[in-house]
Amino acid sequence: MDFYFTEEQERLRDEVRSFLKKEVTPGVVKETESRLGLGPHSWEFMRKAGARGWLCPTWPKQYGGLEASNIDKLIIQDEMAYHEAMEVWAGARMAGPTILLFGTDEQKREYLPPIARGEVDYAAGLSEPDAGSDLGAIKLHAVEDGDDYVLNGQKLFNTACHFAQYHWLGARTDLDAPKHRGLSLFVVDLKSPGITIRPIQTLGGWRTNEVFYDNVRVPKKNMVGDKNRGFYYLAISLDFDRVATTGNMRRS
Ligand SMILES: Cc1cc2nc3c(=O)[nH]c(=O)nc-3n(C[C@H](O)[C@H](O)[C@H](O)COP(=O)(O)OP(=O)(O)OC[C@H]3O[C@@H](n4cnc5c(N)ncnc54)[C@H](O)[C@@H]3O)c2cc1C
Repeated sequence: MDFYFTEEQERLRDEVRSFLKKEVTPGVVKETESRLGLGPHSWEFMRKAGARGWLCPTWPKQYGGLEASNIDKLIIQDEMAYHEAMEVWAGARMAGPTILLFGTDEQKREYLPPIARGEVDYAAGLSEPDAGSDLGAIKLHAVEDGDDYVLNGQKLFNTACHFAQYHWLGARTDLDAPKHRGLSLFVVDLKSPGITIRPIQTLGGWRTNEVFYDNVRVPKKNMVGDKNRGFYYLAISLDFDRVATTGNMRRS
């Protein structure tokens, strides 16, 4: 077997490197190292990388990708990490790939292109005070009301909520089912009335958040996949996220 990169892959790496040398400005590096999340320099960088299709290179072209291989994607992520570009957060890493698998055509058209263009990002909305490793223990509760669900409860350590536009949210939609069969997955606009975001500063320097939902109305069309199958979709989105994490290892 030949384990070397092809000439085309080496050319891609060179192209990404030259782009990063120019576009990863001191402002981007400062924001990356601050551990506070995406600031104005990082958003500008995201849009430039997105314009080249490098945030979501494996996605179909109709949703802003390049239909590139996973090796190409890892070359891009590898170089971004080495050059201390910003993190790609939950939009490209978790929500997008899961919507590609389980979303409706309407959801794909609405949600995916802005992620690929680097215009929006998502915050992972899994953990709660009593639900960490045990994802199935999520309590934040969603009740049907007309065309909406009404959501109440609390999330904890939801890191990107203070700069992302959307919450990739696990919520309980069946109180009687076995706990992992009573969750559903929603895309929630983080500007929705009733959401309160409070900062938590970790000892490691990361800014993360606790997030409160107080009668937050979320349209039913924002549910991704089938009702009460959310545990499985969230687990799959974590699989996507952890692969991306290896590509984001930093040089020491
Ligand atoms: C900086 C930071 C950022 C984060 N960002 C996000 C985010 O953006 N979105 C989000 O949803 N969550 C986020 N989290 C939460 C993170 O996913 C949880 O902390 C993690 O899932 C662990 O949950 P927990 O803290 O409740 O610990 P617990 O689940 O209570 O675990 C405590 C300890 O017990 C161990 N343990 C647990 N269950 C078992 C078992 N059955 N057998 C043996 N050992 C066990 C664990 O390994 C751990 O050592 C973040 C956390 C941190 C610290």
